Amino acid sequence: MSEYRPIIERLRDYRPVELRLTDSALQKELTRCQDCGIPFCHALGCPLYNLIPEINLEAKSGRWASSLGRLLVTNPFPEFTGRVCPALCEGSCVQGLHENPVPARLVELEVIERGFSLGLIKSSPRSQSLDLAVGVIGGGPAGLAVAHRLNRAGAKVTVYEKDAQIGGFLRYGIPDFKLEKEVIDRRLELMMADGVTFHRGVEAGLDISTRLLRKRHQVLVLAIGARRKRDLAIPGRDLLGVHFATDYLAAQNRVNSGEEAATPADLNAFGRKVVVIGGGDTGSDCVGTAWRQGAVEVSQYEILPKPPATRAPDNPWPQWPRTLRTSSSHEEGCLRRWGVNTLELTPDPLSPGHVGGLRAVEVEWEMEGARLIKPVPKQGSEFLKEADLVLLAMGFTGPEPGSLREAQSIKPDPLGRLGPGLYAAGDAANGPSLVVRAISDGLKVAETILADYQAQAASLQPS
Ligand SMILES: Cc1cc2nc3c(=O)[nH]c(=O)nc-3n(C[C@H](O)[C@H](O)[C@H](O)COP(=O)(O)OP(=O)(O)OC[C@H]3O[C@@H](n4cnc5c(N)ncnc54)[C@H](O)[C@@H]3O)c2cc1C
Repeated sequence: MSEYRPIIERLRDYRPVELRLTDSALQKELTRCQDCGIPFCHALGCPLYNLIPEINLEAKSGRWASSLGRLLVTNPFPEFTGRVCPALCEGSCVQGLHENPVPARLVELEVIERGFSLGLIKSSPRSQSLDLAVGVIGGGPAGLAVAHRLNRAGAKVTVYEKDAQIGGFLRYGIPDFKLEKEVIDRRLELMMADGVTFHRGVEAGLDISTRLLRKRHQVLVLAIGARRKRDLAIPGRDLLGVHFATDYLAAQNRVNSGEEAATPADLNAFGRKVVVIGGGDTGSDCVGTAWRQGAVEVSQYEILPKPPATRAPDNPWPQWPRTLRTSSSHEEGCLRRWGVNTLELTPDPLSPGHVGGLRAVEVEWEMEGARLIKPVPKQGSEFLKEADLVLLAMGFTGPEPGSLREAQSIKPDPLGRLGPGLYAAGDAANGPSLVVRAISDGLKVAETILADYQAQAASLQPS
């Protein structure tokens, strides 16, 4: 459903590729949305429970302030989700039963951006009405959601972020062509005006001890993400030119924002044959970035089988469709292969020590019912592939504790509690997921903190 800028134009820059809905397309989609008996999108699809039918009804009549009001009831950062959410809601759209779903994400983007351009989004400083000082460790979407909610409730909130800038993977993972970073800066300005304090370039556990943080704040929230990268333990892994996808993407994002002057030579795809190992969204972001850097060929290998083009019988509507997805980056050109296991990374004969290719094999999956059990190599399917930049995009296995002793093992209760005054939110608590889930979890943990604070305050009242 998304429409993009022409490929020839968009490959020359890192600006957003997706086009906004035109007024007539917006009206048409909002009319389709009203043609729905029992909506499932808000309750079954959206992790934030966005009031999609109401938001869309108000927008249809041009009541933008009212539509925005309903959107902000559940989602503090629609400008992020409106750009990068895979839109779980659209998977359960009633219209999607027979044709394209209503593009609720793009409507959300219209509502929030009109809110900004009409001057409806303003800072809203709060007096510190609660005797509650909260330290949030990590400035990704989960940490920002915790900070936003608790600040609005009257707590004193300080965010500690080890990177030079706030945003987590919004800033240093997702490419600018999906999310322009001015959007994060605009939100941070509002949050600072609201009274949230940000400390950038401060690693909790290293630059400041958790003992000191505990002294400063009654409550600490670990929102440090799930950043322990899944590695590939095969021969040749230590060759030059083999990198983790997130290191590669972050380097380009840093250049785009002016934080760095140029990408390190070994992290630049210019003139290179690139193979991305891992068929997910992070891998797809590498594909788009590699083309923009001037790669000569880009391939993406996934060990899992190719998903079906339409829903399988065990994946009926209104479940999220587990079907083949083609991103804007894939449309730009990419040799995609599924059911491929990489066995070895091989050196470049002209430059030993640097990767020159890989040896891989096609696999078939052993199944138990609908479950994939084990990849089995297909006899005689081994192949060699030239590559002088190999990017590992195979996901994450959990939080990377770094110097934070408290993060060695994060197992919160369902409401985010780790222990007295200690909470965890977002990917750190639940494993690698999505921006929308990080925001939703951050809001949930903020509510837990408020409930615990109130319960404690009540217990201290003389009876
Ligand atoms: C390349 C890429 C593309 C993605 N694309 C999408 C997408 O299109 N749509 C989508 O919904 N999701 C996407 N995701 C997933 C999404 O970005 C994450 O699920 C989300 O950012 C998790 O939010 P978080 O706040 O829990 O963690 P993070 O965003 O990981 O933020 C954690 C923050 O904690 C900081 N931190 C860690 N340790 C410390 C410490 N000791 N002291 C101080 N700070 C610390 C980190 O520096 C980081 O800023 C993508 C992920 C990647 C990697």
